[in-house]
Amino acid sequence: MKSIQFECLLCNELFTEIDIINFRFFIATRVCYTCYRSLQKSPFSYSCFGKKSDDKYLGYDSLAHECRELCPDRKICPGFVNKKLIKLRKLAEAETVVKNKPIVIRQYPFRPSSLICKAFKLCMKGVPLTVLKRWCKHRNKNHNWVLLMLRKENKNGRRWRFNETRDSIKLDYPLSR
Ligand SMILES: [Zn+2]
Repeated sequence: MKSIQFECLLCNELFTEIDIINFRFFIATRVCYTCYRSLQKSPFSYSCFGKKSDDKYLGYDSLAHECRELCPDRKICPGFVNKKLIKLRKLAEAETVVKNKPIVIRQYPFRPSSLICKAFKLCMKGVPLTVLKRWCKHRNKNHNWVLLMLRKENKNGRRWRFNETRDSIKLDYPLSR
């Protein structure tokens, strides 16, 4: 089913109900967030939208008759002036990103913070034996013990392949089925 689309009166971009919920489009005025934001950033001479008053120009005034009754953007402008709507939009955006983000948790055979897990990750990239030995020595770990663990090719139900040449080590993980 195709969702209903709304057109921004300023840029003619199309928006959906999801965009309304996420503050990307304001149905009351049929103007999109992007257009409002550029109006806000435009000079005073072009638009007073979303601006605070300064010495020279009149910006938003919660008591002014124009701002309260006449302005077609009266419901939205204050939200830009006090940044509330900008924050809401950012929050909504962040939530959407999190929701749509595929959750990829790479599970290693060892506890993530453990030294052996770090060695495991190092060897996944492929490492010269001399480097691994130095790496272990640096951490007061016997490299033979590390190699012993890695040669098992199986731990906590996770399997990998231990490839050893004369002077380097490379682990295949995860294994393709
Ligand atoms: Zn627009």
